[in-house]
Amino acid sequence: MSWELPDRISVREVGPRDGLQNEDPVPTDAKVALLDALSGTGVQRIEAVSFVRPSAIPQMADADEVWKRAARAPSVRYSALVPNLRGALRALDAGFTELEAVVSASQTHNRKNVNRSTGESLDEIAEIIAVAHDRGATVQVIVSTAWGCPYEGDVPVSRVVAVAGRAIADGADSASFGDTTGMATPTRVRALAGAFRSAHPDTGLNLHFHNTRGTGLANVLAALELGVADFDASVGGLGGCPYAPGATGNIATEELVHMVEDMGVATGIDLDAMIAAAAEAEGIVGRELPSQVLRAGPRTRTIAP
Ligand code: ZN
Repeated sequence: MSWELPDRISVREVGPRDGLQNEDPVPTDAKVALLDALSGTGVQRIEAVSFVRPSAIPQMADADEVWKRAARAPSVRYSALVPNLRGALRALDAGFTELEAVVSASQTHNRKNVNRSTGESLDEIAEIIAVAHDRGATVQVIVSTAWGCPYEGDVPVSRVVAVAGRAIADGADSASFGDTTGMATPTRVRALAGAFRSAHPDTGLNLHFHNTRGTGLANVLAALELGVADFDASVGGLGGCPYAPGATGNIATEELVHMVEDMGVATGIDLDAMIAAAAEAEGIVGRELPSQVLRAGPRTRTIAP
């Protein structure tokens, strides 16, 4: 039986931003230490910070300082998430050359989040793209609630592809689909990723899964079988689910690396170093993180007989 999978995937580590933004605020020193630990794991992309209004998201109020103090590794591409044009300008001024702009596929979720319609958010993303390109930076459009919304339930595949398609028509360099509340299953991953790739075969696609309902790595496998080779993951599984207190959020980077490397899919990430970074992340947030590979260690770990 042949099992066609990509030889290599690109992993974007989102713990410092997506992870910490959904935890209780931690000191600047700890954020810098976590970024530096991650920069030494072999991971090639890190979502470092977001430039959001401090009054709205106190967890990211020190984004400029964190970024200034982080020891940036030449081998790592760092990105910043921006909620609006103002945030994009802050990110560009701070020297970021990769921006992520977010819009929700669900009208209700977008209104609850940023008090605007999806169309209004897409209008601003078009402005962000123009400004970023003018300054030599790229923009990825992240479509959140791509597999469902906590307010509206399922979101039609056609709508998700259309929202991404509008940003791509406006010049977005790549697209990402976020399973914000962990509603994806492998069948639904095939449906959405397949539809997107048929519509936009030349546009890079990143997938961002949450393990809220235990399907995170199964969804990764379904996407790998389609040839998708770009995934987000968060060290230790850092970052809870904002709509379900106590629930798991992002898939854990070390669990992703542990699984795919054993299947012959390279990540460039040193698993032991990532597990050590996960232990550090756990110390920083002061709660047990959901990563099972952090608890159990790699499958090759043996104990003295
Ligand atoms: Zn996430």
